[in-house]
Amino acid sequence: RGPHVVVVGGGSGGATAAKYLRRFDPSIQVTLVEPNATYHTCYGSNWVLGGIAEMDQIQQTYGTLQDQHGVTVVRDIVSAIEADKNQVVLGSGRRLSYDRLVVSPGIDFRFDAVEGYTANDVRQVPHAWKAGEQTQILRDQLRDMPNGGTFVMVAPGNPFRCPPGPYERASMVAHYFKQHKPRSKIIILDNKENFSKQGLFMAGWQELYGEMIEWVPSSRGGQVERVDVASRTVYSDGGLTRFRADVLNFVPAQRAGDIAVNSGLTNDTGWCPVNQLTFQSQMDENIFVIGDASIAGAMPKSGHSANTQGKVVAASIVRAMRGQEMLALSTVNTCYSLVSPQYGISVAAVYRVQDGNIGGVPGSGGVSPGNATTAFRRQEANYARGWYASITQDIWG
Ligand code: FAD
Repeated sequence: RGPHVVVVGGGSGGATAAKYLRRFDPSIQVTLVEPNATYHTCYGSNWVLGGIAEMDQIQQTYGTLQDQHGVTVVRDIVSAIEADKNQVVLGSGRRLSYDRLVVSPGIDFRFDAVEGYTANDVRQVPHAWKAGEQTQILRDQLRDMPNGGTFVMVAPGNPFRCPPGPYERASMVAHYFKQHKPRSKIIILDNKENFSKQGLFMAGWQELYGEMIEWVPSSRGGQVERVDVASRTVYSDGGLTRFRADVLNFVPAQRAGDIAVNSGLTNDTGWCPVNQLTFQSQMDENIFVIGDASIAGAMPKSGHSANTQGKVVAASIVRAMRGQEMLALSTVNTCYSLVSPQYGISVAAVYRVQDGNIGGVPGSGGVSPGNATTAFRRQEANYARGWYASITQDIWG
């Protein structure tokens, strides 16, 4: 038997790492531990809210990883990492030994950051920042909302999963309202002073939705301090300002997934420090952390970032097992957002490691032009759908 790598989490980072480990060296035994039989991508989940995609279009499964790539998929949760024994303990009580461990558990929430919103409230006031049931709950609430109602979204401060995500969500909900509930309003309460692709989003909102979307930065009452779940009201400015919603979408502050925190892989930021060349944890030499949970320099917490990091970590583990030095690989991220089904915008960047930190390559990437034609925006919307098809094929196909 070859060496054994266990991967925690079958999302964007973990599933990529599992597949590419097998691809780079088929002698490696790879076990992927994931509690869900079906993974719903967060990418595309805003499209479901906009009524332009169905839940089954954002659903991925593990059959191909298992049958075609020889990954052993175990449907269970990792409840503990015993790094001193090179073992993980599963929810079922079963133990798996590893030579190397890849951890890609995504995010969990800091429910203590704001008064009045707890893990028990997520059905009444969904965050929908992990896709699946949460997406469905928010979609159903939007469908049940009367015409003329107010949708309030509270967007988190940095760093968080998917920097353009809240603003694509507002766009998609506006697209839905424009067709079905045109007298309705959208308020984004933001814990920040500015946001990703801001100029492009705001120009698109103005052009497509007029005054329907109002963005409130932290300095003008956007910094929410308290939530009253029962009345769907949020308070800011020491209680002086309040916003009442018909549908409230509260996206809490975030940190690395529970298993990373509980296993001591995080530092006091709540995220996992790694060697940014190899993604080896700074806490344990046999553990590697990728995806949203990791601190990856200038790379945003995105599915595309997690996907590239999955390939880097696979290469880094294979090379280390062969006694080879790690190469300085370039990584990449693109985030497409749909402002409407025919209006796409994007941000892209290429990264490389310099002095131990992942930074952007000067002159690479950038955002869509501000003065593009309708045809250009339509083409980027098509690229967004093409990106979805190709990245999901690369990860789970
Ligand atoms: P995840 O993909 O969340 O995977 C984590 C997996 O680990 C899950 O399947 C979970 O079940 C599993 N897990 C957790 N704990 C354990 C445990 N203890 N044991 C076993 N398994 C465990 N990114 C883009 O690139 N483009 C986009 O357009 C985009 N749009 C987005 C829109 C929205 C609304 C949101 C919320 C996010 C969006 N993202 C997008 C971001 C993207 O979804 C995440 O950055 C990406 O999924 C991170 O990958 P990950 O592997 O770190 O975590």
